[in-house]
Amino acid sequence: MSKNQNQTGVYSFFNCIEKNFDKAARFISIEKGLLEQIKACNAVYRMHFPVKIGKEIKVIEAYRVQHSHHKLPCKGGIRYSIKVNQDEVMTLAALMTYKCAIVDVPFGGAKGGIKVDPQTISAENIEKITRRYTSELINKNFIGPGIDVPAPDYGSGEREMSWIFDTFLSLRSGDVDALACVTGKPVSQGGVRGRKEATGLGVFYGIRELCHVKEDMYSVGLDVGLVGKKIIIQGLGNVGYHAATFFHEAGAIIIALAEREGAIYNEKGLNVSQVFLHLKNTGSILNFPEAKNIENTEKALELECDILIPAALENVIHKNNASRIKAKIVGEAANGPITPEADEILEKKGVIIVPDIYLNAGGVTVSYFEWLKNLSHVRYGRMEKKFSENMNAELLQVIETVCKKRISTEEKKIILRGAREIDLVRSGLEDTMINGFHKIRDIKKSSKIENMRTAAFVLAINKIIDSYEKLGIFP
Ligand code: NAD
Repeated sequence: MSKNQNQTGVYSFFNCIEKNFDKAARFISIEKGLLEQIKACNAVYRMHFPVKIGKEIKVIEAYRVQHSHHKLPCKGGIRYSIKVNQDEVMTLAALMTYKCAIVDVPFGGAKGGIKVDPQTISAENIEKITRRYTSELINKNFIGPGIDVPAPDYGSGEREMSWIFDTFLSLRSGDVDALACVTGKPVSQGGVRGRKEATGLGVFYGIRELCHVKEDMYSVGLDVGLVGKKIIIQGLGNVGYHAATFFHEAGAIIIALAEREGAIYNEKGLNVSQVFLHLKNTGSILNFPEAKNIENTEKALELECDILIPAALENVIHKNNASRIKAKIVGEAANGPITPEADEILEKKGVIIVPDIYLNAGGVTVSYFEWLKNLSHVRYGRMEKKFSENMNAELLQVIETVCKKRISTEEKKIILRGAREIDLVRSGLEDTMINGFHKIRDIKKSSKIENMRTAAFVLAINKIIDSYEKLGIFP
């Protein structure tokens, strides 16, 4: 039994991260105490508060964990799920610390969790719970633009973020930076264009980058490029839906989609937007025309495919099903979808695992852009859009004069266009994901590390050590 396992030999979710951390620490020569400090959770706030639901008073259990204060503010989403527990929130907060370090986002890691099932509670009661949770955070100084900035996660979205902002503002009126207390807000309330799809788009950019590396593709017997690759996605929520849409648009074939109630399969490919429409109309992805139903949703993970994207919850690939996974690449869009035992089984099979601490960092990257927008009080592109359009027009005129040729109005429109907020956000995200991928790959090669996860942890830990050294706390 390893030191990361409990008495019964089972890894807790937090132990899984510690195990991954310890594997990476073997490649880093630094004082053990500093590594212990980086690994530890700095603050855990566990709360219980009453909320009147109907005629009854319900006691709600909730958490906010700040894993690392090496950079401030701390940053991380809030999960709304009946399965929320302290171990899970601590783990997700730790993942945020490493994620931010990998993509050069200057935040410490945090995470929140509210133990409720949003599917069985009315919007009115979710609002009551969210507002009360926010006021608890304010009372304990666990939220604020320079302290800790929540965001959406599993079970929460723009709606909840706007309630958090509104509650914060009502208790901190006059705070000129109040908008920056939470990200993932609707654009009409200080959100940034491109945040909603950011995590899914980041997953797409990361996998696309991998698929362009000849050496890696040949190692798993695949051709270079995304076009024609067969993909299975688990979870058609925020992350899964957007990732599926971008893969589909890029010419990959989505052969199966899995949700809670079951999965659907079509070898020739599923039209993602049509499936989403069907889900909205019928309340289920099952019985989608021209697709086969798979009643046991977990079985979808075991189908023959090139790329498997778990985008729902943790621990879905475990020691009991890992040997039956046939994918050549597993992209961890969800946090912690593969247990350490399954990780080892897949690695032995030669599967490339693109780890969560890199692959789903698109959300926090664009949250960073939103936070900067809120602090600067100006929309991206406002200052330079017209200027670039004028410059482009002048340049085009010179080219047309020199070449003695006029271009069409349609072509002109494309060339003259200045960058809008969405263009800048997406290009910033694309650049971040491409850079992150190559930094991890370079470390993997130069240190002869066996897999991307360990290399990603090495990159993250080294970055955090750098910031501690810059702070001068550990000379
Ligand atoms: P979401 O609530 O929008 O969607 C999750 C989806 O998974 C839902 O459609 C749900 O029905 C489905 N699901 C639940 N159990 C399932 C099961 N057993 N089988 C198949 N599907 C199931 O959540 P999300 O925001 O898309 O988050 C998904 C994952 O991505 C989580 O692990 C989250 O921590 C991670 N993540 C999210 C973000 C973000 O920006 N939202 C950022 C980074 C990581």
